Amino acid sequence: MEYGDGDQQHNGLSQKYDCLLFDVDDTLYPLSSGLAPKVANNIQDYMTEKLGIMENKVQELCLSLYKYYGTTLAGLRVCMNGIVLIECCSFVHGRLPYDTLKPDPVLRNLLQSLPIRKVVFTNADKAHADKVLNRLGLEDCFEQILCFETLNDSTKGNDAVEDEEAAEVFDINEYSAAPNAGISLPKSPVVCKPFEEAFEEVFKIASINPNRTLFFDDSLRNIQTGKRMGLHTVRVSNDRNVLL
Ligand SMILES: [Mg+2]
Repeated sequence: MEYGDGDQQHNGLSQKYDCLLFDVDDTLYPLSSGLAPKVANNIQDYMTEKLGIMENKVQELCLSLYKYYGTTLAGLRVCMNGIVLIECCSFVHGRLPYDTLKPDPVLRNLLQSLPIRKVVFTNADKAHADKVLNRLGLEDCFEQILCFETLNDSTKGNDAVEDEEAAEVFDINEYSAAPNAGISLPKSPVVCKPFEEAFEEVFKIASINPNRTLFFDDSLRNIQTGKRMGLHTVRVSNDRNVLL
């Protein structure tokens, strides 16, 4: 993230907003940390090593799952019924090179100088969010951390499915090739961005008034939903941050 400076800007923000709502990955740290491609690699390794999916199918599958279910992991939970999501998360995040993330004292000072409440809203699990915030030196900058476990009952939908019929694999690539062919897309039990339900839950849990909240995220889909839900938005990108 790049930051402006000056007291004038701070005063303007605190008059207009009651809350700053932040995504974590690729928002609080730059894309150049290299963490995002590692996450993608680890998901692909999980799919080939643990789920036995052919290597040449994995990339297309990841794209379809992300497109229809918000995150690849949420999509895997639905289409590869039987996978244990928490195990999958720990495989993917457990081997990430967190040491590439460095403390960001400039962002820390900026956050601490703003007299507005700050809340995190991430699709990642709590262990990952905590590790990232600790590495960046931002662990005490947020009033609340709303993550995967906040929006999803970790005891529900994370157990392996024993019923063979229910454990069938849904062919999302076939669906994606012909979405109007009469096959219906299985509904996801996972609540996550970019879906409106996730934003509604977050507003309730953190008592957020979207009209008085500025939302920062690197994902255009998340920004678009946020905007529809009444949030003021900033799309964080490597080039510049854009108020949308
Ligand atoms: Mg992100």
